Amino acid sequence: MDTLGLTADELALQARARDFARDVARPRAAEIDASEEYPWDIVEALTEAKFVGMTIPVKHGGQGRSYLDAVLVIEEMAKCCTVTARIVVETNMGAISTVMAYGNEEQKKLAASLVLSGDKPAICITEPDAGSDAMAMTTRADRRGDKYLINGRKHWITGGGVSKLHLIFARVFDEKGADLGIGGFLAVRQENENAAKGLRVVRREKTMGLRGMPEGELTFENLEIPASMALLPPSGFRRGFADLMNAYNSQRVGAGTVAMGIAAGALELATEWVKEREQFGRPIGEFQGLQWMLADMATQLTASRLMLYQAARSRGEASAFPDPMLAAQAKIFASEAAIRIVNDALQMYGARGYSRDLPLERMARDVRMFTIGGGTAQVLRTLVASRMLGWKLPQTREGYVESARPLAAE
Ligand SMILES: Cc1cc2nc3c(=O)[nH]c(=O)nc-3n(C[C@H](O)[C@H](O)[C@H](O)COP(=O)(O)OP(=O)(O)OC[C@H]3O[C@@H](n4cnc5c(N)ncnc54)[C@H](O)[C@@H]3O)c2cc1C
Repeated sequence: MDTLGLTADELALQARARDFARDVARPRAAEIDASEEYPWDIVEALTEAKFVGMTIPVKHGGQGRSYLDAVLVIEEMAKCCTVTARIVVETNMGAISTVMAYGNEEQKKLAASLVLSGDKPAICITEPDAGSDAMAMTTRADRRGDKYLINGRKHWITGGGVSKLHLIFARVFDEKGADLGIGGFLAVRQENENAAKGLRVVRREKTMGLRGMPEGELTFENLEIPASMALLPPSGFRRGFADLMNAYNSQRVGAGTVAMGIAAGALELATEWVKEREQFGRPIGEFQGLQWMLADMATQLTASRLMLYQAARSRGEASAFPDPMLAAQAKIFASEAAIRIVNDALQMYGARGYSRDLPLERMARDVRMFTIGGGTAQVLRTLVASRMLGWKLPQTREGYVESARPLAAE
């Protein structure tokens, strides 16, 4: 075991990921950013190296690896190429974890076969008028015989236009029009759109960073989903949204790790640079002003890493996913620290840091999203406070008066 408590197997996996990141991902990172094209060559290489679908159980063709294993791989990839790291997140955590935890056999087989052949599933929750307030979603799934008809619009869907498997969250109505709550539905988008008629990608967002990973706006017009493709969480449709959102705890650990990995990469660059760059006749690393910046960056990085590893190793009560409080704390801390660390690394490079010839400006753009996507740093703080106080903390005006109701009442 090493000082982080990693086993020989985990260290070997980490080393394999480090080699892949250096040899395959790093040389492509700048091109992916400039072309803004999803890197199918990297997907193929990741699939061949078996870094996709690692957490899928062996029974379904995966390796049954842990979230910590995924985190170790993601960190190494993120040091070199953020898009590559995000592909590893989304093929091991998030939508795929939800299906493997709650899906029926047919759903598990479908999801596993797609992911193991390189598909990055899309998770469709956010709508133009339902961001942090996801419960306000208006996309609906109406039961019609042995099918559901889905109608609505989602935006900022990672992988929109490249993903095949879509986990769509919608408000469910029975045949009589009764509102059953929010459920999840699986749809497969094909290039010719035959398999999922009614699912269209209508727009691509113009993003600040992570430019090789499309963020799409999707519409569903009478999208037919067989009833067998409704994902029924243990508490059913009526109360199942919380179960479905539990999967986001793994996604959050993954996203926090991407941010931490970018910061680790930036710190490695800065540490080398301050030894090399000379001003006033001495390496700039001899100035205490920069030494203390480096020390603060390294301290924040170590704390982020420990929190993320701890969250990855944890299990929430009666759930297959990381503990919600640890996952939220780790994502808040790591994402905010990473923005500061990358910004400071760029500062140490002076004008060169601001140039597109070096990776720092790309890393500074890429790292910015992690306090926003997957639950903002503000909303996650509410989750943490809610757990601390043992209170539900509804944020709507009407709900607020109920805020003293204990969580246990749920
Ligand atoms: C790169 C990227 C990828 C994404 N990928 C996906 C995806 O794959 N699937 C998906 O469904 N969504 C995705 N999202 C959407 C993301 O989940 C939402 O952006 C996020 O939930 C916030 O919603 P919003 O953007 O509408 O902001 P809003 O909810 O409008 O929030 C605006 C601001 O108000 C703050 N705020 C809102 N409510 C509160 C409150 N109660 N207390 C304190 N502060 C509050 C927020 O923190 C934020 O600072 C992605 C977003 C980004 C940027």
